[in-house]
Amino acid sequence: MTNESSLRALANDLTGEVIEPTHPSFDQTKTSFYDEFNDRKPLAVARVADAADVARVIGFSRDTGVRLAVRAGGHSMLGHSASEGGLVLDLSAIGGVDLEVEKRTAWVGGGVLAGEYTRVTGEHGLVTGFGDTGSVGISGITFGGGVGFLHRKLGMTIDSLLGAEVVTADGEIRTIDEGNDPDLFWAIRGGGGNFGVATRLHFRLHPVDTVLGGMLILPASPALVADFVSVSREASDDLSVVAGVAMAPPLPFLPPEVHGELIVMAFMVHAGSPETAEREVGRLRSLATPLVDGLETMRYPEIYADEDAPHPAAMSVRSVFSDDLTIEDAEAAITALTSSTADMSVLQIRVLGGAVARIPNDATAFGHRHRAMILNVAAAYQDPGQRPEHDAWVEDLGEHLAGGSPGSYINFLGDDSPETVRAAYPPATWQRLVDVKTKYDQDNLFSSNHNIAPRSR
Ligand SMILES: Cc1cc2nc3c(=O)[nH]c(=O)nc-3n(C[C@H](O)[C@H](O)[C@H](O)COP(=O)(O)OP(=O)(O)OC[C@H]3O[C@@H](n4cnc5c(N)ncnc54)[C@H](O)[C@@H]3O)c2cc1C
Repeated sequence: MTNESSLRALANDLTGEVIEPTHPSFDQTKTSFYDEFNDRKPLAVARVADAADVARVIGFSRDTGVRLAVRAGGHSMLGHSASEGGLVLDLSAIGGVDLEVEKRTAWVGGGVLAGEYTRVTGEHGLVTGFGDTGSVGISGITFGGGVGFLHRKLGMTIDSLLGAEVVTADGEIRTIDEGNDPDLFWAIRGGGGNFGVATRLHFRLHPVDTVLGGMLILPASPALVADFVSVSREASDDLSVVAGVAMAPPLPFLPPEVHGELIVMAFMVHAGSPETAEREVGRLRSLATPLVDGLETMRYPEIYADEDAPHPAAMSVRSVFSDDLTIEDAEAAITALTSSTADMSVLQIRVLGGAVARIPNDATAFGHRHRAMILNVAAAYQDPGQRPEHDAWVEDLGEHLAGGSPGSYINFLGDDSPETVRAAYPPATWQRLVDVKTKYDQDNLFSSNHNIAPRSR
C-alpha cells in the first residue's frame, strides 16, 4: 500500500479524523506556539478521539515507517510536535476534566491545557500546579516535570500525578500507576514523551483558593538580583516565584523612562495566610521602590492571564541548575544581557526547594530535586535565521552560570542533540530511562522529542 492509501485506510478506521494538506483547516491544525516551526508540512494531522485511535495511529506509523510527532498544547521550543513529511498525532480533541471532588482527584484528557484545567478545578477551590502559562498542554509539561507558581508548596506537577492512560509503541492501552507498570510510571514523570502517548492523566487536587499573586517589577542591579534570590529562598514554601532579569521592553504598562533599563520582572503566587503573604512578599517589595506593583489578592485560576500579547517567533534557551546566585554571577548575567542582539533576552530564575526537595531524587525521573534553582537563559527573536547566533549567546551565559555543574531541566532544554539530552539527567536516572525505553519502545517509535534512544538489540 502507498502512504496515501494507508492514510485513507487510517481515516476510515479512526473515530477522530485525518486532516490532509488539502483540508481548509490544515494550516490552523498544525500551528505551533513558535512560528519558526509553522513552515513544516506534515503528511497529515491525525486528530485522535481516544486511546483506541492512538493505537491505530501507532499501528499506521509502525506499518508505513512514517515518523510520528505527538502534539498536545503545541508549545515545544524545538518543534517536537511539528513535522516535515511525518504524521502529527494531535491530542487536542481529547478533552474533559472529570472531577472527583470528594476524593480530591481528577481524570483529564491528554489534550487539555493548563489554564483550562485550572479554571474547572478552581471552581471548587481545588488545583494542581502547572507552569506560568495557561496555554501550555498539561501532558507536555507533566512529562518534563512541571514547575510554576505552586511547586514549593505542592511539589512539581509530576508529584501530583497519580496515574495515566498510556498507549505504548506496541499499541497496548495501559492504565499505569505506582502498582501497574511502575517502571513506565516512573519514567513518564520527567522522561518526556519517550515512552508512549498519554490519553488521560489522573491528578491529585489540592485546596488552594485565594492567593496573593501577580507581577512585581523592580529596578535591577547585581546586588538586588542576588538579594531577590536570597529573599525568595528564605520565604516559606507558600511562595513560588518566576523572576526574569532583563532590559525593560517597551511594554505599555511600564513608564516610558524605564524602557531599556535593567529590571527584575517577577511573577509570583503566595498561597499562605494573608498575613504571611503580606510579610514575605513585603520583603521582596522593599528591596527597591517598585516600578510596577501588580500583586493582588485573587482566586488562583486568575493567575493565568489572557494571552493576547504577541509572542516571539523563535526562542533560544539554555537551562541550567545552580545552588547559589552570587553578586558576581548576577553581574556577569547583566553584562551578557546588555550585549545580546536578540529582541529580548532574559535570565529567568526559578527557586526550587520546599516540597520539590522533600521527595527523593530517585522517586521520579526528575533527579535534580536537591538543587536550589533552575536558571533559564533565553533569547527571543522574530527571524529564525538568527538561531545560531542566539543559541551561542544562551549557551555561553548558561555555561558560565552552571559553573561546571551538570544537568538541565528538560522542559526548557533548547537543544536536543544526543549528548545534551543525556547530560540533562543524572547518570543513574539516565540508565534507568534507557532500560524503560528499551523495554517499551525498542524501535524508538517515539523519537520526535528529547530523545532517549533504546539499547540496540
Ligand atoms: C510560553 C511557555 C511557557 C512555559 N512555561 C513553563 C513553566 O512555567 N514551567 C514548566 O515546567 N514548563 C514551561 N514551559 C515548557 C513546557 O512545559 C514544554 O515546552 C512542554 O513540552 C509543552 O507541552 P505542550 O503539550 O504545550 O507542547 P507540545 O509541543 O504539544 O508537546 C511537546 C512534546 O511533549 C510530548 N508530549 C506532549 N503531550 C504528550 C502526550 N499526551 N503523550 C506523550 N507525549 C506527549 C511530545 O514529545 C511532544 O512533542 C513553557 C513553554 C512555553 C512555550
